[in-house]
Amino acid sequence: MRHLLSAADLSLSEITEILDLAEEMSTVQDRPVKKLPALRGRTVVNLFFEDSTRTRSSFEIAGKWLSADVINVSAKGSSMSKGESLRDTVLTVAAMGVDALVIRHHASGAPWQASHWIDAHVLNAGDGTHEHPTQALLDAFTLRRHFRSADPSSAERNGQASDFTGKTIAIVGDLTHSRVARSNVLLLQTLGAEVVLVAPPTLMPSGVDSWPAANTTDFDEVLGACDAVMMLRVQRERMSGGYFPSAREYTIGYGLTRARLGALRPGAAICHPGPMNRGLEISADAADAANSLILDQVAAGVSIRMSVLYQILGGAEESVASPVREAAVR
Ligand code: ASP
Repeated sequence: MRHLLSAADLSLSEITEILDLAEEMSTVQDRPVKKLPALRGRTVVNLFFEDSTRTRSSFEIAGKWLSADVINVSAKGSSMSKGESLRDTVLTVAAMGVDALVIRHHASGAPWQASHWIDAHVLNAGDGTHEHPTQALLDAFTLRRHFRSADPSSAERNGQASDFTGKTIAIVGDLTHSRVARSNVLLLQTLGAEVVLVAPPTLMPSGVDSWPAANTTDFDEVLGACDAVMMLRVQRERMSGGYFPSAREYTIGYGLTRARLGALRPGAAICHPGPMNRGLEISADAADAANSLILDQVAAGVSIRMSVLYQILGGAEESVASPVREAAVR
């Protein structure tokens, strides 16, 4: 894998490799010394033109736990705030000899463009309303674990795809502005899940009928049929007009309220990519419920980003499990 730009670029076997290696990487999280030598001497720059808590810090932790040198560059405090173009900024950072650029940008397609300007590897950490592939990977990692813990024999019985085969996953809320939804639809389709998109008509993306997913404006109609619900943040910063009459009406139609929590199938997983608007798209009862995987998603973010950085920078020809095993015998 040279770059990670879109979930659509990943085949089922590539996704499986990333998730399996992430499982191995996750063991590092429980060690007293959280360090593997796998990416010693490699330099990763996090180039963030938009705000981030989870994505940037987990890419940083992932790189550091793999012994890469990780540098954070954000729009505030750099020449980007003096009006430098995306191209000049990318070329400038690349000219210092970095191995990988992790890019978040408000323009859809910015990481793809950057990958054509420079030789370094490019990882998309969220581009406008387009895609967020590592989020979809960490969501798949979290859900795979959840499905396996409910039915431990499923993985051995039918192989990887079976974890998602026959599973129905609803993605609910501000679909129009969600790069998380786009990447998840693509990845979950490859994994063999049934995806249902739920949104008010005003937040249903145009052309949604051509997406590989069902769609509905009636959340209550699908609630009882889902194995997982992914709630999306209402992205007010990307909204220019009134997409719904009031916050209260949005919650009544599309929030995961306490009443809807009770209507979910027992054991159905609750996911949210964060940051959450508690009380708007998700109630505190749902966010903190026993079957909420929201903090598992955060922890998975580090393991997935370790896995992806290693796959891209560490040389995929070697046994993918080797960095963890080698360190374990040290
Ligand atoms: N953190 C996710 C993203 O960057 C989701 C969100 O912001 O709502 O796309």
